[in-house]
Amino acid sequence: MTEIVTGLSDLDSDYRCFSSYYNVNSIPQELRVSLPLTLYLCAPKWSILELRKVTLYRVKKMRLWNGWGNENSDLNMELNSGLRMLLKALVGSGTALPQATLSDVVAKVPPTRLAAHPLINTDPEIRVRHARGQSLPDWLDMHSGDVNTFPDGVATPESSAEVRTLLDHARAESIVVIPYGGGTSVVGHINPEESERPVLTIDMGKMNKLLHIDKESQLATFGSGIAGPALELSLIHI
Ligand SMILES: Cc1cc2nc3c(=O)[nH]c(=O)nc-3n(C[C@H](O)[C@H](O)[C@H](O)COP(=O)(O)OP(=O)(O)OC[C@H]3O[C@@H](n4cnc5c(N)ncnc54)[C@H](O)[C@@H]3O)c2cc1C
Repeated sequence: MTEIVTGLSDLDSDYRCFSSYYNVNSIPQELRVSLPLTLYLCAPKWSILELRKVTLYRVKKMRLWNGWGNENSDLNMELNSGLRMLLKALVGSGTALPQATLSDVVAKVPPTRLAAHPLINTDPEIRVRHARGQSLPDWLDMHSGDVNTFPDGVATPESSAEVRTLLDHARAESIVVIPYGGGTSVVGHINPEESERPVLTIDMGKMNKLLHIDKESQLATFGSGIAGPALELSLIHI
């Protein structure tokens, strides 16, 4: 899947909104890295030609649900035969793990234990996408579908006031909270443990703005969910 990010916003809704109209892979690579661009795109959707004006600041791929990298990546990660032979000589023949699909794992997600709340999403797929970090055991578990614990819901607050609301709610309802930044922990930080209490993952990804910059000391303050590339992009314009 491919995501179009408009402005500095990384919202999933932007991805869904735009990807339903455009085949981003049809955009030449050189245009994908030109920022910002105002383009007129003529893209077929089924048999209909639609003309839309879009401001493209950046185009990026959506992160893999079960490993490191992006979905539909062009990168070929097949081991070559020489490396296979070397590995076989060093550690013996391997046993391939089963390959689970996203739908296989989504089907394993149990009903949520959280009551409905306007800031909390209990959709099974978003719960899968926040269930594990990026350690090797995490990758093997996700690839083989050997995943049995999921957050009961995921919140993506956009302000400190919403974080406060969520924490107050969690305290009142005895909910375990897992803060989630980029989800790249390699030591199991963000993996929900089996628990009698419901688990809420708070994904900080939408709190990704430059909050303050002191040009003299060159000290910049950002929302805690900002990722490196977006941080660099926002500093370009200062
Ligand atoms: C391929 C790869 C290479 C890596 N290379 C390096 C390396 O060279 N050097 C290195 O040091 N690390 C490396 N790491 C580890 C990685 O940098 C760290 O896991 C990363 O810094 C964690 O940041 P994150 O935003 O993804 O946090 P997450 O994984 O989302 O969270 C990590 C921990 O911080 C907590 N947390 C997250 N956000 C908040 C918040 N706003 N408030 C309070 N708590 C919060 C989480 O609850 C969790 O306990 C690598 C990881 C990968 C996958």
